[in-house]
Amino acid sequence: MTAAQQTIHVGGEWRAALSGATREIIDPADGTAFAVVAEGGVPDTDDAVAAARAAFDDGSWPRTPAAARAALLRRVADLLKRDRERIGALESQDTGKTLEEGRIDVDCVRDAFLYFADLVAGEDPGGRVVDAGSDEIHSVVVHEPVGVCALITPWNYPLLQASWKIAPALAAGNTFVIKPSELTPLSTVALVELLLEAGLPLGAANLVTGPGDTVGARLAEHPDVDLVSFTGGLASGTKVARAAADSVKKVALELGGKNPNVVFADACATPEGFDTAVDQALNAAFLHSGQVCSAGSRLVVEASVRERFVAELARRAGRIRLGRGTDEGVECGPLVSAAQVARTEEYVSSALREGAVLRAGGERPDGPGYFYRPTVLDRCHRRMRVVREEVFGPVLTVETFETEDEAVALANDTEYGLAGAVWTADEERARRVAARLRHGTVWINDFHPYLPQAEWGGFGKSGIGRELGPGGLAEYREAKHIYRNLAPRPVRWFAGEQRKDQA
Ligand code: NAD
Repeated sequence: MTAAQQTIHVGGEWRAALSGATREIIDPADGTAFAVVAEGGVPDTDDAVAAARAAFDDGSWPRTPAAARAALLRRVADLLKRDRERIGALESQDTGKTLEEGRIDVDCVRDAFLYFADLVAGEDPGGRVVDAGSDEIHSVVVHEPVGVCALITPWNYPLLQASWKIAPALAAGNTFVIKPSELTPLSTVALVELLLEAGLPLGAANLVTGPGDTVGARLAEHPDVDLVSFTGGLASGTKVARAAADSVKKVALELGGKNPNVVFADACATPEGFDTAVDQALNAAFLHSGQVCSAGSRLVVEASVRERFVAELARRAGRIRLGRGTDEGVECGPLVSAAQVARTEEYVSSALREGAVLRAGGERPDGPGYFYRPTVLDRCHRRMRVVREEVFGPVLTVETFETEDEAVALANDTEYGLAGAVWTADEERARRVAARLRHGTVWINDFHPYLPQAEWGGFGKSGIGRELGPGGLAEYREAKHIYRNLAPRPVRWFAGEQRKDQA
């Protein structure tokens, strides 16, 4: 890359936007601009798709053996290890998350590259032989890359979400165009640089920085794109699905969540159990200021322990240290933008108008930056907007239940279905409740962990398809059945010839 605003990468060349437009990237900890990127548009997007198309149709990457593709992915993982501090700090400054979270994100990105490298390296290149029921037929199913992939990512985990798409897309032999969030594009630029350094053929990876309603929308509708994989909000996701429909391209959507954290009284019966459940409820709700798709933003707690639980939760929420993500001792950074703070304020006001009781937070602290205090809203109910809609800020709502059936009904009472947790000391209950929850990930006595080996995605309006795991690779592939007749002979079905059954 030669200049700060040359953040568009097309066919091996870094360039500015064709229009010359640029965008300032804002540090959410103080609201000042700290970088400038190219503000791409539709013509840049068309160029990037054309480069990815040419690299897919005529380039070497789709025809590179799986072992060599895996080796490249492993080189990327090595480079991420080398640049962990630099990229972790960039991610922290761009998103506002703490430096430690930025570093952990880089480690998780590495894990994704290594996982998909191992997955394709370990496969039988001959495909899956199918028993056709006859010695005269040899039938095999092979998996081929889908083609040109459009990858659209959000601002909360820019690098991580990019890796969940780029690693399987490349592992499967696709070429791609990625469009990061216009708010947080910098770590994606850094990742594309590492792909090139690792030796990815030119044209296989293309990047357009720019807005969703131009660059993103064009990618979704573009006839030369074979698959669009989108992570972001429900409103944009439905637009992507609509735009993709005309060209019948494959669509994968990772959308929002309104994730229940169900706490039974038996989980709080011992001091250690109580402490763990409260601590994890805090983490579930307030990690990265609640700007997590799987945030446990709905506490669903058994009535008999509600008061004790909420009092302790509110006390600890009030002690969370806010500040710039790179400052020593800071536990929680700012929200990503002024708009996100305004949105959070609006949800809290509406909840209070609807009868919620404020137990912690509910305000911005003094000073610069897009901060909002971790907020606990007690006495919430399922009809409140704050309980039904994704706030994507540090706001935890509290609902109560008396029976297991009621707990399950509340936990499933959402149009989303991304993730949910159940806290209980009763193993049988844990199994029963986990089986009944309609969510893509269910945690028992835990919250937030995911594994690259396990599929991630949502029921309901949380999305279509899965990332990670074998299913996350399958999204980037087409299955092809190759049927070989080892003893071909006429079938005599048609006119003029003797029918086989009459022979
Ligand atoms: P967003 O929907 O505003 O934007 C996501 C991306 O889509 C951005 O790159 C944006 O520029 C682009 N975009 C916007 N409009 C578009 C359009 N019409 N066509 C194509 N692209 C368009 O979401 P956000 O605010 O950046 O991210 C937060 C959302 O992402 C939350 O809802 C969160 O739950 C979700 N998310 C989900 C997961 C998951 O794994 N399910 C992970 C992270 C974030």
